[in-house]
Amino acid sequence: MPGFELFGEKEKAEVQDVLDNGVLMRYGFDGLRNGHWKAKELEKALAVRMRTKYAQVVSSGTSALTIALVSAGIGAGDEVIMPTFTFVASFESILAIGAIPVLVDVDDTLTLNPEAVNKAITSKTKVVMPVHMCGSMADLDALKSICEEHDLLLIEDACQAIGGSYKGKPLGSIGDLGCFSFDYVKTITCGEGGGIITDSENYFKNADHYSDHGHDHVGNDRGAETHPFLGYNFRISELNAAVGCAQIERLDEFLSIQEKHYSILRHTLSEIPEVTFRRVPEGGVENYSFLNFFLPTEELTRKAHKALGEAGVDGCFYWYNNNWHYYRKWEHLIEKNVLGKLPKDVLQGLPDYTQYDFSASDYWISRTISCLIKLSWTEQETKERADKMKTVISGLLS
Ligand SMILES: *Cc1c(COP(=O)(O)O)cnc(C)c1O
Repeated sequence: MPGFELFGEKEKAEVQDVLDNGVLMRYGFDGLRNGHWKAKELEKALAVRMRTKYAQVVSSGTSALTIALVSAGIGAGDEVIMPTFTFVASFESILAIGAIPVLVDVDDTLTLNPEAVNKAITSKTKVVMPVHMCGSMADLDALKSICEEHDLLLIEDACQAIGGSYKGKPLGSIGDLGCFSFDYVKTITCGEGGGIITDSENYFKNADHYSDHGHDHVGNDRGAETHPFLGYNFRISELNAAVGCAQIERLDEFLSIQEKHYSILRHTLSEIPEVTFRRVPEGGVENYSFLNFFLPTEELTRKAHKALGEAGVDGCFYWYNNNWHYYRKWEHLIEKNVLGKLPKDVLQGLPDYTQYDFSASDYWISRTISCLIKLSWTEQETKERADKMKTVISGLLS
């Protein structure tokens, strides 16, 4: 998945262009910058590639999620439905605005189970936030119709799935708003960065202003600006955006390499009858950043993960044990360890996460292994890796 693996002349030239010009900030300095607007260029390229009307590029994927929520008017006490399997940024972005993360089970898509979403809806629910983990998506038609029925927003966390699609539409462009991360380990990188896409002029304007202290960015240079509302600093720098300008041009090249490597691994592993693969909803196309498969039992999966590591097959993840990605190890959230003080009603509004039954999530995640697909492998290396994985896993099953 990581764009940093293929990092070359284009990226260097874009960064050098910013350094030569000397304006490192994305707004203002209109005269000094001689037409250099890297963040704006990246926004244009992102909107074109995602076929949305608007894109706002910001400092990280985490801030993109926060901004998306705020831009749509979400705030204190509102409930946001999110999956048990994601990255900690999901609940961080929700808590940052005083909203309440409501955890919901995943199914064999490794993303939100629509039936579980339906059951979790209360009078306070405002948003359903599916997370397209490891490059693939939930049943988005089902989630969309739930949102329509209950008048909820659909905000896609597509941070790990840039380039994937659902029924012909780019992931991120299906909900009311979609978010991407361009951190160092994502499919394309800015070093640090994030993006928000939407077709709503209103959400876009809010995102544009909010991410820069509420400045309305009206008129030339910054002199004539006003502040329609309070904001914050979630700006990306021109240096980071410059890297993104080079990387987004290479997205389709990266995706085709990932697909090739993914297919080799999948073809070989599918020769093992006990191995099954993550379900991709009808009409969905992964971005092939990971190959995700199930083994028949938790015990076998743990053994296989260990044996793969010992055999030198790197980049295989067992999320069930992972404290960044699965609810079981989110002690800081479960124990409500906040730094400083959240408003009392927010703190009291947080559910007692220990009381939930997430055995359905456990059932799938405890049997999942995800292999990171690297861009830098050669075809020969990929084949050898696939054969090694097959030998290791078959050995445990025989
Ligand atoms: C990486 C990631 C984020 C956050 O992105 P950052 O740019 O690292 O802040 C959010 N959600 C998911 C699913 C991610 O993988």
